[in-house]
Amino acid sequence: MTRWRAFPPLGRVFRAGGSAFLLGAVLAACSSNPMTGRSQLSLLPENTVIARSVSAYKAELAPYAKKNRLNAQAVQVERVRGITNRLVAQAVRYRPDTANWPWEVNVIDDPKTINAFCMPGGKMAIYSGLMEKIQATDDEIAQVMAHEIGHALANHGSEKMSVGMLSDVLVAAVAGNNAGARQIADIASLLLWQLPNSRGAETEADRIGIELAARAGFDPAAAPSLWRKMMKASGEEGRFDLLSTHPASESRMETLNELVPHMRPLYAEAAAQPASLPNRLAANVRDVTPGAEAEAAPAPRPLSLLNPAVQAFKRGEALLPCEDCGMAFYRRKDKLRAYHEGRAWEILAREVLEVGYAQDISWYYLGAAAEGLGLPVASEYYRRAAELARFKETHCKGLLADLCNGIDLPRQAEQALARLAP
Ligand SMILES: [Zn+2]
Repeated sequence: MTRWRAFPPLGRVFRAGGSAFLLGAVLAACSSNPMTGRSQLSLLPENTVIARSVSAYKAELAPYAKKNRLNAQAVQVERVRGITNRLVAQAVRYRPDTANWPWEVNVIDDPKTINAFCMPGGKMAIYSGLMEKIQATDDEIAQVMAHEIGHALANHGSEKMSVGMLSDVLVAAVAGNNAGARQIADIASLLLWQLPNSRGAETEADRIGIELAARAGFDPAAAPSLWRKMMKASGEEGRFDLLSTHPASESRMETLNELVPHMRPLYAEAAAQPASLPNRLAANVRDVTPGAEAEAAPAPRPLSLLNPAVQAFKRGEALLPCEDCGMAFYRRKDKLRAYHEGRAWEILAREVLEVGYAQDISWYYLGAAAEGLGLPVASEYYRRAAELARFKETHCKGLLADLCNGIDLPRQAEQALARLAP
């Protein structure tokens, strides 16, 4: 999506505020992605981002409404709303705060355009071309919309606006050529370096989308099939906007294909009892009284995204494939220590698996996490830690670096094994 370009260059607002304010703003601007936990830049409060999106949405739809090309075909509109209602119901389970978003979906009657979007705040649209040109099935429409909703849930719109602001600021700072400005430029460039490229945002949206759709009862296999259809259609005449902002590469489809089997149980569960799925957008544009939702039903713990690596870990099939990931482990060393000490078992396991460093300390942490979660596989992980600690190549205390994080290996692994022995 490139729609956010329409927003004014907000950097000017910041320049006017002075560099001390700017410095503080930039330093305070990193927040954690509400869906994936990834650190992301966020210079604007969410309600500002949503307010801007709402006006951009109105501006986008107005010309079509004028030409009677908005929601022109009742059957299509009903179909799309039926699908998005189910997706939004699931979105709210992951981010309960989005129950207060002004969710809305409309169909733009434009048979030549294959496109769809969901802005921050849940303002969605789909172009009729997406349904007609590639003969999209309900499952495929669900995958497109869920992917777009994924962007909104992961705050990608807000992130893009922030990057835009920051690059504006960066240019001004470099042009200013004074010590304070240079300092800001240094910080700004550091932050820019840390940002994911749009490919990263795409992967995140794919990941969120396929799970939302599965939980809403839509076939996960439709995700790769949809992109394949779009690739095929791109050879024909017409505009293919979605494909131009979403490159449908082979690697993208491979990643989606790998996710399909992990999503199957969620899909089967939802498909078995479609009647029990809540219908969120029944009135399409919902009037929301802030706070009323929470009182009406006690909020359950929000869902978090399924993590295939963590599931394998719980089954005793954890994989730590990386032999030269010492640097990556070193960077997360303090975090891992804090999770271990704070008994945050699930996140400890997730982070260790994400690094994948094939060393005794990693297996020890997996053992501790499994023990903390009461999993019988704990001994097996401790046993691997004790084994690897005997070889200098796989022991955390090396000649140059100590990655043991204060854990005495193999002694502590052996103690744990004795403790867990029947
Ligand atoms: Zn996308």
